[in-house]
Amino acid sequence: ASARVLQMTFSFFEVVLTGANKTIEQPKATLDDADVNRKCHTVNSDYLPSLAPGAYGSSAYHNCFRTDAQVDEYLDVLVKQNAGVITKFQISTTHKGALHCKPFISTGARPSSLYLHALLHAREWVATSSAVHTISTILDNIKPTPTDTHDLIIVPLVNVDGYRMTWSGARYQRKSANEVDLNRNWYTPIANPKPPSPSSLIYPGPTYFSEKETMGLRDYLLKNRASIDGYIDLHAFAAEVMAPFGDTKEPVGGGLDEKYKTMNTKIAKAMSNKYKPTLSHQMYLVYGSFMNYAVREFAGKPSITIEMDGTDFVEPASSIITRGKEVYDGLSVFAAENAEFLGHAKEHSRALRHGRRLAAALPGASRRVRPPREGLAMVPPHPRRLGRHISLLLLDHRVP
Ligand SMILES: [Zn+2]
Repeated sequence: ASARVLQMTFSFFEVVLTGANKTIEQPKATLDDADVNRKCHTVNSDYLPSLAPGAYGSSAYHNCFRTDAQVDEYLDVLVKQNAGVITKFQISTTHKGALHCKPFISTGARPSSLYLHALLHAREWVATSSAVHTISTILDNIKPTPTDTHDLIIVPLVNVDGYRMTWSGARYQRKSANEVDLNRNWYTPIANPKPPSPSSLIYPGPTYFSEKETMGLRDYLLKNRASIDGYIDLHAFAAEVMAPFGDTKEPVGGGLDEKYKTMNTKIAKAMSNKYKPTLSHQMYLVYGSFMNYAVREFAGKPSITIEMDGTDFVEPASSIITRGKEVYDGLSVFAAENAEFLGHAKEHSRALRHGRRLAAALPGASRRVRPPREGLAMVPPHPRRLGRHISLLLLDHRVP
């Protein structure tokens, strides 16, 4: 048990407190990183005219981390040059009203699609650069690609407002501009026994789906639930391919835990020998994360979190292509393994339907209880659930 505590403590430091500790060095990091990349932009500025299929992945665009305006401008050219293959449209706005766009890659009328989003956490720049590089590689038409079997829905930059803050003085900004952790704002039936305060790095917001960003994505995903057959959330920088759950140590059940283990081991191996397949709760308990929401809401379909390899949220631009290729390779395995995974999913959902039919036949069954999707109050902490994980989360209050 003590080994487990140690492991979690270490990981917590690694992923949450690293950023917190770094806030002390933030002014330096801001200069060293946003300014280094702005300088990089001046010597890698003329890439748009040379963009062409087959050369996207090697474009000078990928020589620097890019602002959200540059990400948009680059993707717009890809959309223009690949009409009918990739489309880009707005899902919602952010808290501050920025457009919140979703490129959709289709190589035909695939009945099944895979969903990937990046940058719920603003400081994790490599998540966005990797998603954009993956789109580039796919359009370069190197075979095989995940689009051989699936349409892809990729949101490369969820937390646009927070990302802008990281480019203008707050390089270690994690939350949204509304100061909500967008990876704690998703519905979970398991309440955080110690709800973090608004000043916390992991503040989940006043209610589930209180934020425009999560609400917009949720509505899109609910509307397209029939065709989306897998979910990936990209983060940095623990080099892990994480399976559910994050908010409980209970298994997912229905034969899915074994499926996750098989699939994630293959994904990790394809990405590089640095990546390890893990269970999300092994890092620390996470309440209200996207992965946990999707695995329950879209029961039976794979929902994973990938933590990119790295040593900090600030990384040299020379890592962009390496990380991008890792995501491409991981996504390829995710696509290749999807049918196998869903084989179980079908059995699982048959079992679920059977269970629901049985339940519906019971007296009083018409009073179906379903949690409201919006404005659902966070459940207050239950004193008996206070345990060691809370003390780990309390470390967060040291954050200045
Ligand atoms: Zn993250």
